[in-house]
Amino acid sequence: MPAPYRRPSPSEKERALPKAELHRHLEGCVSVPTIIRLAARHGTKLPSSDPAELEKLTRLKSPMGSLDEVLAMFSVAQAAFASYEAVEEITWEALETAFRGENIRLLELRFSPDFMLGGKDLDWRKSLDIINSVIKRYEAAHPFVGGVIIIASRGLGAASAERTAGFAIENRKKIIGFDLAEGEKAFPARLCAPLAAKLRDAGVPLTVHSGEEGEYSQVIDTLDLLGPRRIGHGVKAAEDRTGRAMEMIRLAGVTVETNPWSNYLTRAVETPQAHPLKKFLDAGLKCSISADDPEILDTDLNREYALALGPLGLSKDDLDYCRRCAVEGSFLDPDRRQQAAREMGF
Ligand SMILES: [Zn+2]
Repeated sequence: MPAPYRRPSPSEKERALPKAELHRHLEGCVSVPTIIRLAARHGTKLPSSDPAELEKLTRLKSPMGSLDEVLAMFSVAQAAFASYEAVEEITWEALETAFRGENIRLLELRFSPDFMLGGKDLDWRKSLDIINSVIKRYEAAHPFVGGVIIIASRGLGAASAERTAGFAIENRKKIIGFDLAEGEKAFPARLCAPLAAKLRDAGVPLTVHSGEEGEYSQVIDTLDLLGPRRIGHGVKAAEDRTGRAMEMIRLAGVTVETNPWSNYLTRAVETPQAHPLKKFLDAGLKCSISADDPEILDTDLNREYALALGPLGLSKDDLDYCRRCAVEGSFLDPDRRQQAAREMGF
């Protein structure tokens, strides 16, 4: 077995940098102590209640053996959202970790209601209201701005995606955007086109998980058929030797929400050095850096920045450009974006 990859430790400077995060799943923000605490409160059964053992079952520390392994980790985190109080506590902790631990000043949190609340007696709208009220409370007390993106998990099927888009449109004043996540191969862009058109007509900004796995042609189809303002991951675009996929991203003015460590752990790239972020930047693409699922993927933005400046080969200017792209590409309203830009020193 190859030795585990040793990531560079973030420096104090990297930790202290004010940050903006566009791609973070709430379901991937539940820490092991929180899983244990909430399971005890709700009487939920855990695969283990020993913290060290549970950590092994819920945190991916090296490239995944199989997708099932990761899905099992998500299902433990998902079970933690067992009550409205749990939704509130997990959201608050996600904000605390982001602000205090990573100095994040702008945070877009996303969740998939059908996945996160599936099998539970919890109302989607009430849960969304709770998440928003936590963000508002946090904003009032800290130099921080945030908002919610609603996800349709393509893996849950067409009816689920339809219902989720309908929910997003009905609640469009309470959300900042919409995301199509996972299952891109089985549920390709052409099947999502009517849904993307509906969201566009309703004025809901769209981001799409695209080119995380599979072929670069998926990224081309996403841009052509769905017209998103941003894409998540996009790594496969770099495999188009003609450069067309990257050029299309550039011409569309689309921001790529990159997730370097996530891509290494899910084997989208073979090594961190092979991640195309630097290539994207050199080709003139707008890119942000994000952590995806910090608890499950054992990462955060401090570590992502250290990775970017180390093995990924970004310069300090490149990193600053990515920080700026995150603020400029945010779906938050201009006032909030301005506030974040000031706090980030732009
Ligand atoms: Zn993601």
